[in-house]
Amino acid sequence: MSAITRRLLRPEMGDVASYATSTATAPIRLDRNESPEEMPQATREKVLASLAAARWSRYPDPYASELKRALALREGVSTASVIVGNGSNSLLLSFFLAAAFPGRRIGICPPTFGLYASWARAAGCGVQSFPLAEEDLAPPAGEMVAAARRDPDLAFVLCSPNNPTGTLFPREGLVSLLETGALVVLDEAYIEFSGGSARDLLPGHPNLLISRTLSKAAALAGVRVGYMLGDPALLSEIEKVVPPFSVNLFARAAALAVLADESPARERVAAIVAERRRVARALAGEPHARLTESHANFLFLRPERPAEDLFERLLSRGILVRRVAGTKRGALRVTIGRPEENDRFLEAWREATS
Ligand code: PMP
Repeated sequence: MSAITRRLLRPEMGDVASYATSTATAPIRLDRNESPEEMPQATREKVLASLAAARWSRYPDPYASELKRALALREGVSTASVIVGNGSNSLLLSFFLAAAFPGRRIGICPPTFGLYASWARAAGCGVQSFPLAEEDLAPPAGEMVAAARRDPDLAFVLCSPNNPTGTLFPREGLVSLLETGALVVLDEAYIEFSGGSARDLLPGHPNLLISRTLSKAAALAGVRVGYMLGDPALLSEIEKVVPPFSVNLFARAAALAVLADESPARERVAAIVAERRRVARALAGEPHARLTESHANFLFLRPERPAEDLFERLLSRGILVRRVAGTKRGALRVTIGRPEENDRFLEAWREATS
């Protein structure tokens, strides 16, 4: 960051990383944890027809009531317990804006989703790392509880299933952390692939916020709809810094169509989970990488040879995966794709590691 930029902007921006997504392309993209399948064509057409009949010159409902109602119904919570945004990312940014104050630190468990640390710093918070254990990738829950007791302003942003490891944050650890009174945001972007949401902890814990998205299991990454669940009093404060109309007319129509009938999404998720098991079984028979059980729509591979080298070898075979920094020898995150894409990945993996 140059001296002039430092003077014009907040100095902390120099420590904020840009969002790292690959500029590479390949015939098979297994790098962004997207759904390999679209919503059913008939539903897409219905959405397009409703948009053709809508007035684009007018702002949509400022309260997004219909969308909030549909999400509240899905989650079994009151409408006041939901806020919506332009992707869950944007609500995380609003959270940091509402929650940051000088001296506040945000606890994270790396390796985890990169935006947490970047945006915590951009908002002026400190970041305290509680790294996952090298061997089994378990978070140091006891240490986190002790730190929360020492510093009541310490807040946590946790991810379960965690991106990039696919591992869960243990429920007992989460409950203990909440019992300290600490503010905890739990990012459940991949929860549909695991089944074990912490949503049932919301009623007894007004210090818990749960972040969700329609980008993964609901196959709407391009549409940009995320939501946050929690205590209405806390959410209404955060909502003050969510830009008005941040879920646009088009996104609302697509989201409502998906929420009106979730059976296609459930089928897609079941197929991805079955594929995840099949690919994991196939890789378990290969000697070249350590694989941990994943609860998401991707696998986390810690290869014996440098991950960078394998990344290039896979890319030269037409397969783009994600490199993961912050682990000892590097790691790769591989999204579960269509069965034929997964077969091509397994074939390329065998060639690349032989
Ligand atoms: N949280 C996690 C853990 C993610 O991996 C992602 C997507 N990469 C997001 C949030 C962002 O989701 P959205 O598309 O809803 O902004």
